[in-house]
Amino acid sequence: MSEKLNNERVAEILEEIGDMLEILGESVFKVNAYRRAAENIRGLGRDLESMVQDGTIFTIDGIGKAIGEKITELVTTGRLEYYEKISQEVPHSLLEMLKIPDMGPKRVKAVWKALGVQTIEELEEAARSGKLAGLPGFGPKISAKILAGIEERKRASSVDRIPLIEVWPLAEMVKEGLSDLPGIRIEVGGSFRRRKDTVGDLDFLVSADDPEAAVEKFCSLPIVEKVLLKGSKKASVLLRGSLQGDLRVIEPSRWGTALQYFTGSKEHNVQLRELALKKGFSLSEYSFKAVEGSEEILCAEEEDVYRFLGLPWILPELREGRKAIEEALKGTLPDVVDVEDLKGDSHVHTFWSDGMSSIEDMVLSAHRKGLSWIAITDHSATLAVAGGLDADRLKAQMKEIDDINQNQSKVRVLKGVEAEILADGTIDVPEDLMGELDVIIGAIHLSMRQTEEEITKRYLKAIRHPRVHIIAHPTGRLMGQRQGMNANWEVVFEEAARTGTILEINANPYRLDLPDYLAALAKEKGCLFSIGSDAHRPSHMEFLDFGVSVARRAWLGKERVVNCWKLDHLLEWLKDKPNRL
Ligand SMILES: [Zn+2]
Ligand SMILES: [Zn+2]
Repeated sequence: MSEKLNNERVAEILEEIGDMLEILGESVFKVNAYRRAAENIRGLGRDLESMVQDGTIFTIDGIGKAIGEKITELVTTGRLEYYEKISQEVPHSLLEMLKIPDMGPKRVKAVWKALGVQTIEELEEAARSGKLAGLPGFGPKISAKILAGIEERKRASSVDRIPLIEVWPLAEMVKEGLSDLPGIRIEVGGSFRRRKDTVGDLDFLVSADDPEAAVEKFCSLPIVEKVLLKGSKKASVLLRGSLQGDLRVIEPSRWGTALQYFTGSKEHNVQLRELALKKGFSLSEYSFKAVEGSEEILCAEEEDVYRFLGLPWILPELREGRKAIEEALKGTLPDVVDVEDLKGDSHVHTFWSDGMSSIEDMVLSAHRKGLSWIAITDHSATLAVAGGLDADRLKAQMKEIDDINQNQSKVRVLKGVEAEILADGTIDVPEDLMGELDVIIGAIHLSMRQTEEEITKRYLKAIRHPRVHIIAHPTGRLMGQRQGMNANWEVVFEEAARTGTILEINANPYRLDLPDYLAALAKEKGCLFSIGSDAHRPSHMEFLDFGVSVARRAWLGKERVVNCWKLDHLLEWLKDKPNRL
């Protein structure tokens, strides 16, 4: 069965027809009819398919006989002959060109007919070579403006997805800004709700007593930089930092299907629709609709959507790929780790190396976060740029930790170090000192440009070291800065599993390392994990929540995450490593 066309896709097709007609020089009246129909469909709040079935399609404002019949053809067959026909006349790449400022349909037609220009690249070339400026209706000024528009567009599209931490405050500000609307319910859908490490845009789903007031309020929020589109029940804006925010106002009785639909992932939704079809229903963002007959089932809550399909509600973090629904059908979805399960933070810096705070300050922060232990893991001597500790200073720090543990019992402080795994795989902490430390994290910060083979060898040597307990941020990636190292991860993870060496999920939101997909692979190999904030100041301990999201997306239960273990058990496990080699 072909993928069903939702309202948005139908609206897009009508809009494209309008654009193509305008390029072809059709009457303004005809062009606008398609654009108005598209806009009205977007504000509809009802599934087009059902309106085609009961004939109410022709009662939509601005939809006359001709367009109504085209929508009917689209919705019932998934195709539209008229659209296919004019698509052959007007190259699709010309529609892309319309998105360049100052390139309206008339100018697009002019460059196409006079210069044979069909793509943005060709347009750029024509502008650079001076051909564009020579064309009637253009001139040097307009040509320069168009070129600037092309440049701007290139810059905008090269912006990567944004780390979750950066969009978090924007989402909070929007929620806060809408919170006093009467009857408001608000949720952020999409990859934000699934807690992906990066986010492309923000989807705000809202129900409210007065939908138009919600749209108005949204568009006038102080963090909105530009309103891109404003309808009666939806809006698109650019938020501060040029992140796109989309608002959709949902009828409360259809909240469940809408929230489910706009949370995704795409693949998850496809699978749910397949399941629904097996039961004789088509599932859309609006409802379940019987394939035969006119029965429609509304879901006010997301749980209702899953229940109707015979499934338990599925955590948003698990809604990637095919596995979640297969396991849900079998009743074997995992009980994944929760923030409340964490008892300690395994990776903490202080001003002994490159942190900004004292050990006491980090203890207080841990107590506020509800933790009962932290491991102080400042850098070792080789990382001199980060104030790494030589043997004498490490000893002095251990003495201070003893004193702190004697003076307070709220948070047990473990003695640790984040030691360098040198280029040849050796560890830069004197052997005799290692025995006095509770936990040693091995980390690569230097010589990261080795080959995959060399990095693999280096990690294997560290993992086989009797006193290296945890491997920190294994890929070394830094979002927006560097991709990270490659290793033969299967081999590395197998050896980590065999030796009980723990893999870190570094919770610094620009690292999130291991990333979710590698953590999932490591889980399959039987590895253990630690979640470390890598805090360099007290507030950074909040990063742990991001690390937990990664662990959840990798389907980790708390038995795999050593921060959830009883501390005595963990300390024994660390001490016992030589016996596992
Ligand atoms: Zn590090
Ligand atoms: Zn660190």
